[in-house]
Amino acid sequence: MAEPKVPAGGPRVYLSGLLPDEIQEAVSFPQRFRAVQVYDWIVRGAGEFAAMANLPAAERERLAALFGRLRSSSVSSELADEDGSLKLQIRLRDGAAVECVLLEDIEGRKTACLSSQVGCPMGCAFCRTGQLGFLRNLGPDEILEQYYFLKERRGFISNVVFMGMGEPMLNLQAVRKSIALLSDPAGIGMSLRKITISTSGIVPGILDLAEHGPRIRLAVSLTTAEEGMRTELMPVNKTWGLDALKAALVEYQEKTGERVTLEAVLTGNRNAGLDSARALVKWVRPLKAQVNLIPWNAVPGLPFETPTPAQVRAFTEVLEKAGLTAVQRMHRGRGVMGACGQLGDTLRAAAPENPED
Ligand code: SF4
Repeated sequence: MAEPKVPAGGPRVYLSGLLPDEIQEAVSFPQRFRAVQVYDWIVRGAGEFAAMANLPAAERERLAALFGRLRSSSVSSELADEDGSLKLQIRLRDGAAVECVLLEDIEGRKTACLSSQVGCPMGCAFCRTGQLGFLRNLGPDEILEQYYFLKERRGFISNVVFMGMGEPMLNLQAVRKSIALLSDPAGIGMSLRKITISTSGIVPGILDLAEHGPRIRLAVSLTTAEEGMRTELMPVNKTWGLDALKAALVEYQEKTGERVTLEAVLTGNRNAGLDSARALVKWVRPLKAQVNLIPWNAVPGLPFETPTPAQVRAFTEVLEKAGLTAVQRMHRGRGVMGACGQLGDTLRAAAPENPED
């Protein structure tokens, strides 16, 4: 038998982020069917090698000796909201923490909102995660494990959005690999139509997706179509301003034929006025897009106001009168600081447990 490829000193790759061929290589299984068995167990939610009942005991012991544990991360706290949302804090192998959320809507969709980075370098002014700074990217194993932990607790997940902590376009390789795992017909088998990447507007990432796929759903946090305001709220606008963003989205739509979702976080004291609504209408017009309006979810210490229902209604009317599809997003997860823009209150509490792992 060939020597295993797992590096000396402990694994840097965990099996929950690998496809069967990669598992076979990482473990040096002489027969592929053994790698498929391990993969099947992971997909079915096994949390430890001992649960892999159809593997010979010697193989289970070899896996445990090689990897120590099946998953690289663990759940360090969980909070359930009255509205059915569930927020998990995940402790990573180096002691850092991220959060992920399961949001249930009245139509029965169960959407896993997954993090792709520890913290976020984008610094959006209205977002709690953006105030924390950036620690590191997550690996595919760490992303998939968020999915498995949520599924374990809620039984079924219908949709995945890369909208938790971090900017997924800045960790596109790991996000792509995670999507390959989520959508593998021999594994989890989720339709690409049920997977969304939400970006703050990283133009090279949008063009890369347009060129190379995968054909997931794309959401862009536009927030406002007023240049100065967008720069104030979203520093990404200094690098890729509104013209560059629109050109990228036009190219994306030409290449893919797909509609995009534009998200607008409305803050009562900045961008929820009627002038902002009219500017948004003008900007969106050439695109095939739905606009999701997200009334700002309060974050203590930030200088914004949640818009009143009347402000949101008036804003929506301007968009609808112009023929745009505007959808007001629910506030699900607010009760546990798990709604859009609220993640990250536990990042600072994280301390390495075992940084040498
Ligand atoms: S809104 Fe998204 S991109 Fe912006 S700081 Fe927060 S996590 Fe990062």
